[in-house]
Amino acid sequence: MDGRLTITEAITIPMPARPAAPVQTLRLQTTFEICGHVFTVKVNTQELADAKRYPFTHLILHGNPIHCHVVYVDKQGAVRGSESSKSIQIDRTSATFQELVKWWTMHVEGDA
Ligand SMILES: [Zn+2]
Repeated sequence: MDGRLTITEAITIPMPARPAAPVQTLRLQTTFEICGHVFTVKVNTQELADAKRYPFTHLILHGNPIHCHVVYVDKQGAVRGSESSKSIQIDRTSATFQELVKWWTMHVEGDA
């Protein structure tokens, strides 16, 4: 390695064909014990309506060091509980990376 960045593969990420589904904004008042953040929880209304069981599990992944917050939402869209963990695993594949980039493309700044 000579220190230069070499890009060996171009990744084409298809743009979404239709606008993202409406997002329901829920206010989570719980302060997470790991980082002390209070989040505005944004849940896709269609995903919430189509859930197989409740409470619906919603994940927030963020921070340095990276960690996750798990939020439990009932069928009416109320936050029923939450927990946090520094123990996470992110699959190291191009498919996962492309999905992450697609998610960021479909969600505007400050949406997360
Ligand atoms: Zn946090």
